[in-house]
Amino acid sequence: MPEGHTVHRLAQAFQAQFAGKQVDASSPQGRFKDGAALIDGRMLLSAEAHGKQMFLQFSGDHWLRVHLGLYGMWRFAGAGLEGVGRRRGRPVEDGNFPPEPRGAVRLRLLAGRHVADLSGPTACEVISTPEKAAAMTRLGEDPLRDDADPIKAFEKLHASRTSLALLLMRQDIVAGIGNIYRAEVLFRARLEPHQPGRALTEPVWQAMWADLADLMLDGVKTGRIVTTQPQDRVRSKGAPRRGDATYVAHRAGLPCHVCGQQVLTEALGGRKLYWCATCQVK
Ligand SMILES: [Zn+2]
Repeated sequence: MPEGHTVHRLAQAFQAQFAGKQVDASSPQGRFKDGAALIDGRMLLSAEAHGKQMFLQFSGDHWLRVHLGLYGMWRFAGAGLEGVGRRRGRPVEDGNFPPEPRGAVRLRLLAGRHVADLSGPTACEVISTPEKAAAMTRLGEDPLRDDADPIKAFEKLHASRTSLALLLMRQDIVAGIGNIYRAEVLFRARLEPHQPGRALTEPVWQAMWADLADLMLDGVKTGRIVTTQPQDRVRSKGAPRRGDATYVAHRAGLPCHVCGQQVLTEALGGRKLYWCATCQVK
């Protein structure tokens, strides 16, 4: 599932390529015909992300809310693909625009020489401004947003007996964290992931929040999650390879980059948790 940094990158791509333009909206697959008709021909005013959700503002009090979920994706094509994930965009030869939709495209947005095709989202709906505001209030604090308040997240974490590992995945507490950032931020704070939220102190949380914001901002810039310091990698020079980019996430059974002990994994809340029992203590 894309984590928050990917959704912010997508919002940036829409802001750069579609904002201020009149957009043709259609549903090649047919499932979103009525929704597409509501925004067809309107101007896209702005794009923003909050956690794993993206909100596109159209003229006439219309917002498109999209949550990609596990299988959703945007595929971009057209001129100038700056700011879009490498694998998700492709330039189109002149005379072949717009390209034929590939697969079951729920929604196609077309503006000038830019096209964006959405397939497989968990949520895709057109809502009003009050409904958009209500959707935002159900979401927790997003470290990538200027309006985020880490203390609000702390109060929810600190009030709970649930494990930190589970709490950090809850989008109504911290929005945008997924499985990788969850595991990595706990490792970098050297916190044992099964301890309850109430064990967390405010200074420790403030440091974790700042760390998370740095890591995620880096993810927005590069399109990649890299949490390791160069000196902790097997290869300290060049771009980190897959197993070198994270401390514990997706490294079960491999030696910890810091202590050399095996990285552990277990199923927790339907997702895999990764941690190092030597480095991460209560
Ligand atoms: Zn370790």
